[in-house]
Amino acid sequence: MKAALAERTPLRVIGTYEGEADGPTVIVTGAMHGNEPAGVLALETVLETLHSRRMAFRGRLVAVVGNRSALRHRRRYLARDLNRRWEPDLLMRLRRADHRRLHDEDREQRQLLDLFEPYLAAAKEPVVFLDLHSTSGHGAPFVCMADVIRNRKIAFDLGIPVVLGLEETIRGSMLGYLCDLGHIGVAVEGGQHDDPRTVAHHCAAVWSVLGSAGAVALDAVPDYPALKQKLCAAIDELPSVIEITHRHVCVEGDGFVMQPGYTNFQPVAAGERVARDHAGDIRAPMNGIMMLPRYQGQGEDGYFVARPVRSLWLRLSAHLRRIGADRVLRSMPGVTRHPDRSDHFLVDRRFARLRALELFHLLGYRRAQPEGDRLVFSRRRPDEYGPEPLPPLDEDFPTPLTPARGR
Ligand SMILES: [Zn+2]
Repeated sequence: MKAALAERTPLRVIGTYEGEADGPTVIVTGAMHGNEPAGVLALETVLETLHSRRMAFRGRLVAVVGNRSALRHRRRYLARDLNRRWEPDLLMRLRRADHRRLHDEDREQRQLLDLFEPYLAAAKEPVVFLDLHSTSGHGAPFVCMADVIRNRKIAFDLGIPVVLGLEETIRGSMLGYLCDLGHIGVAVEGGQHDDPRTVAHHCAAVWSVLGSAGAVALDAVPDYPALKQKLCAAIDELPSVIEITHRHVCVEGDGFVMQPGYTNFQPVAAGERVARDHAGDIRAPMNGIMMLPRYQGQGEDGYFVARPVRSLWLRLSAHLRRIGADRVLRSMPGVTRHPDRSDHFLVDRRFARLRALELFHLLGYRRAQPEGDRLVFSRRRPDEYGPEPLPPLDEDFPTPLTPARGR
């Protein structure tokens, strides 16, 4: 029996398992946020089962700790959120930097990159990434995915609510970056940080993803039906798919405090006072579903509002993408293709106010960045492009990084 995590810090690679048969590469990360130990505990449990039973396996599983130094201190992060700034320019700088001079999350991120790179470089089919998280508030487990079709099977097989659009609202998430390279990535929010059920939920999620990816036969997994039942126990009447419609952004020192008692999936009404900060009351801007209310000191996401997505919409969006309907966008009034980037559209703001935005969502264009009087819409790398190799190191690239903290 392993000691509790409070007394030890697991290695970066918690463990691996490889089958004799060829198959998918599945990389699972736990504790990307250091105050979320449940994913690490779940990975240890799954690996123990795989090894002790010498289970048949196709491909390989790599189980990884996200933020080791923050896990040691049981903090979400030390200098910055490790699940942000997975952006090509920063990553290029990290790859070029002398790793001995990197600190805190820069060092963590570099070590993760060094670990992932050989798998990404060798990938002939998309690598499957599963990122295990937990939340400060209570509520049912759910899965977040970037809105590309290749993520759907793995996410929907989990049997818990699927959240669309979170990956696109948060800039620089790890899965967003990997998805932009053409890989598969879903993040599971398994429950409250210290709730013991969260570990069981994560175990069920890891097995489910291994099963969906074709790495294990789920009927060979001991107690899988019971684990899956636990994962899905709290689902009840929750919508099976929701999309994010609002994100409240916090800044350091703004005094953000959530009103007590909110849980994930709780209905909120437009105008309802949900939080406060130094500027006064913060009210929900629309009717919807409360997601990820922040009951911890750190983090730039105060709370999110979401709304249900109908299954017809999902089928329609899959069909439209299959037939390449995004060609139609070019011929719409107020819409032009970006001169340099084929997967970006420039949209006149007057047009963007219309419900036509829904069409962009249907086609997977969920990121909208303001640029002058226009919005630039973009999407994650679509399925038909396949995985993309990492860019070669560019010798002319500057190397400034996050300054080291005083120590
Ligand atoms: Zn997290």
